[in-house]
Amino acid sequence: MAGDKRAERIAEFIRPLRVEPGSKVRLSRDFDPAYRGDVLRKKDGRELLAAGVTLLADYQRRLAAQNTYGVLVCLQALDAGGKDGTIRHVMSGVNPQGVRVSGFKVPSSEELDHDYLWRYARRLPARGDIGIFNRSHYEEVLVVRVHPEHLDHQRLPASARRGHVWARRFREINDWEHYLTDNGFKIVKLFLNLSKEEQRARFLRRIDRPDRNWKFSAADARERRFWDDYQRAFSKVLSATSTEWAPWYVIPADRKWFARTCAAAVLAHTLIDIDPQYPTVSDERRDDLLVARAELENEAPEGAPADPYAAAAEKKRQKKKKKKH
Ligand code: AMP
Ligand code: MG
Repeated sequence: MAGDKRAERIAEFIRPLRVEPGSKVRLSRDFDPAYRGDVLRKKDGRELLAAGVTLLADYQRRLAAQNTYGVLVCLQALDAGGKDGTIRHVMSGVNPQGVRVSGFKVPSSEELDHDYLWRYARRLPARGDIGIFNRSHYEEVLVVRVHPEHLDHQRLPASARRGHVWARRFREINDWEHYLTDNGFKIVKLFLNLSKEEQRARFLRRIDRPDRNWKFSAADARERRFWDDYQRAFSKVLSATSTEWAPWYVIPADRKWFARTCAAAVLAHTLIDIDPQYPTVSDERRDDLLVARAELENEAPEGAPADPYAAAAEKKRQKKKKKKH
């Protein structure tokens, strides 16, 4: 039962990152951006990540073959939190056909002409697929909350602006995620938790290195002034929307290698939980396959083996036997 042990180890590893549904989170008090659990050395983290990537590739193949469940990964972070790098590393082993990454920026005019969840719903994964949201519907209760002028642009009726706008949105988001989960779409929510000092260091690197300049804009520096507002907004999101069906994981993000390892572990945990299986073949279909096999063998040209693979394997076996004697 080596598989069970592995699953247990992964579950244990990610437990401290999980936001207990119903708990009241204060980020600065409850989660340390520099935490790294028992994994003390970068080398160990790298090995863990490599193991996770291999495991993900295997599970993704089964997820696609079974075609019953889909997985949606929501990545949230402040600027320079490491979203892009996490996607690049964690998904490095999986078949690109089974993954779609969607980034969300300031909504377009067309998007603003719809309800606020519309543009996210359009990018949901199909059964068998892994969808990754680089930023997600949570922007609707984060940046929109920190900068309420975004809400003014959303063309909402007065009734949607009255009362507890954010409490209502939390409920709507929870309901939407519950609906998706009930229908076979598992949601993995990762918040890359960066410290203010590490963000400062990463911004400086983006300014100094020409190959990173494109990643930095003056707007990013302006946004940093709202750091405390964002910490509060994230705390509220984590408190209100970590649910049994779609819990949040707070990923310590000050060390990139550790953050990537954690992200891979949470995703692996979800896939292990789904435990997708290759479809089994019915007796009738097996018979069909055997008929097709016989036909193909009969088509072998003059001098060629009926089954080239079987012939090659037999040759190898004979060679081995000779060596032994
Ligand atoms: P980046 O991810 O660096 O390309 O930046 C995308 C920008 O779009 C960020 O500043 C986000 O805060 C912003 N953004 C994403 N979603 C929304 C939204 N629903 N309303 C307003 N701004 C958003
Ligand atoms: Mg940016």
